[in-house]
Amino acid sequence: MSNVEDFLSIEEEQEIVQAIRQAERNTSGEIRVHIERTTSLSHYNRTLEVFRMLKMFNTKEQNAVLIYVAVDDHKFVIYGDKGIDAVVPENFWESTKNTIQQQFKQGNFKQGIVAGVLKAGKELQAHFPWTTNDVDELPNEVSKG
Ligand code: CA
Ligand code: CA
Repeated sequence: MSNVEDFLSIEEEQEIVQAIRQAERNTSGEIRVHIERTTSLSHYNRTLEVFRMLKMFNTKEQNAVLIYVAVDDHKFVIYGDKGIDAVVPENFWESTKNTIQQQFKQGNFKQGIVAGVLKAGKELQAHFPWTTNDVDELPNEVSKG
C-alpha cells in the first residue's frame, strides 16, 4: 500500500494541507485526509480503523471529520465523530460527498479532495463556528497508507 505519491505530487499534497488550514479557519471542527491505494476491509470499517489510528476521537467537542480515500478502489468515505452526529441532520455529508464525487468522476483527484475539505469546513461552520480561542487539535498534514 505505497506509492500514493503516484497520484499526489508534493505540490498537490501541499494544496490539500492548505485547504485543511483554510477550512479550519471557519470551524472549530478538525478535518483530516487519509489516502491509500486499497484495503482488505470494508471501506467503512477501514475508515473507522484509520480514525482510531489517527486518534481523531481526541477532540474536545468530538467534532473531527475524516475524509478517507482508497485510490485503486475508487472509493471514499466521510466519517464524522459523534459530536457532529449529535447536532446535524441526517445526510449532512451528502453535499460534501457530491462535491468530491463530481471531481473524481472527471479524474480530478486532488481537486476533489481539496473541494471536499473546503466544503466540509463550510458545512461544519454552522454547527461548530470558529472562535478566537480555537485550538488546532489535530495535525493538518495528509495521512498516507
Ligand atoms: Ca480546531
Ligand atoms: Ca487541524
